[in-house]
Amino acid sequence: MFATSLKCTACARSYPLGEHYACDSCNGVLEVTYDYQAIGSKPIAETLPEPGFNIWRYRNLLPVRDEAAMVSLLEGGTPLVKSTNLATDYEIENLYLKDETRNPSGAFKDRPIAVAVSKARELGFGTVVTASSGNGAASLAIYAAKARMRCIIFVPETTPMGKVAQATVSGATIVKVRGDYSNSFRMAKETAEHFHWMNVTTTFLNPYSFEGDKTVAYELYRQFGGDVPDWVVIPAGAGPLVYGIHKGFLEMRRLGLTDALPRMVAVQAEGCKPIARAFENGTDVSAWERVETVASAIADPLRGYEKDGQLVVRTLKANGGLALAVPDDEILAAMDDLGKKEGIYAEPGAAASIAALKRMIAADSVRSD
Ligand SMILES: [Zn+2]
Repeated sequence: MFATSLKCTACARSYPLGEHYACDSCNGVLEVTYDYQAIGSKPIAETLPEPGFNIWRYRNLLPVRDEAAMVSLLEGGTPLVKSTNLATDYEIENLYLKDETRNPSGAFKDRPIAVAVSKARELGFGTVVTASSGNGAASLAIYAAKARMRCIIFVPETTPMGKVAQATVSGATIVKVRGDYSNSFRMAKETAEHFHWMNVTTTFLNPYSFEGDKTVAYELYRQFGGDVPDWVVIPAGAGPLVYGIHKGFLEMRRLGLTDALPRMVAVQAEGCKPIARAFENGTDVSAWERVETVASAIADPLRGYEKDGQLVVRTLKANGGLALAVPDDEILAAMDDLGKKEGIYAEPGAAASIAALKRMIAADSVRSD
């Protein structure tokens, strides 16, 4: 209830909290700003309650004002599982797994989608559109169903059928698009503009969606008993989850809840690593040419919206974080490790973070404690 405006992350121009997808002046990514002073005067328990049944516990820090518009399937509030076996094997003491498979659709996407669909409803839209590599489709379909909204989803034609099946059962219209994710992204964008439907694509396009990603940071803070971890290792396509979690920690510091800021790691697959490549080479982000990886959920070539990756690289550099890429064989080994040693069934895109951690340990980037 304290959201005030949309602000350009590049040139700082402000806009009212309406339907905007990019800065009119510079085409920069827009984000939501809040009246932190007003939030800060509330008791901590009210500003940042214990993690509970859903993300709306943190509504003070979310951009939806009308309670009647909030759509929820009890997303968020996922467990933080202390790794025992994997941690022993990797010889580190404190490894925790934020198990986002416990969300309603089985992926973290429910956080940004719940916020974006709620905002669309608040703004009076009856139809929502997204481009997705699968998980966003499954998520949007169930939230649109719950909100009684029409839902159109553009997916790359190579998207695994299992992921699309869930969306179909929930009544979504699925449009298969030739080529990689960036083609689907463009189709969704053009269609939404043409018919004036709300585009809730969870890259950086919809400024409300990655506000939902912030709630991971608030939950971690509470689950660590009012403390923050040293590192947060996050799988990244365009990287709104990385940016969102970082923003959540920045907000908590601003509200005086913590002095420390965790270092973020954006993890990509070797077969599609526009962000990691730019980070390593110290160059601008350019579109990835040929996508080739089993980790389809994080395979975003960023063609036409390279600026999204630029924002993530800038954020990581300022944060003292890292971007790195891991090859498919290490991703699959990590998936196996998670299943066999921790009992967590994760898809390759998610397991990539464990493969990256293994590399960080080998390179002495993280201390054993
Ligand atoms: Zn701007």
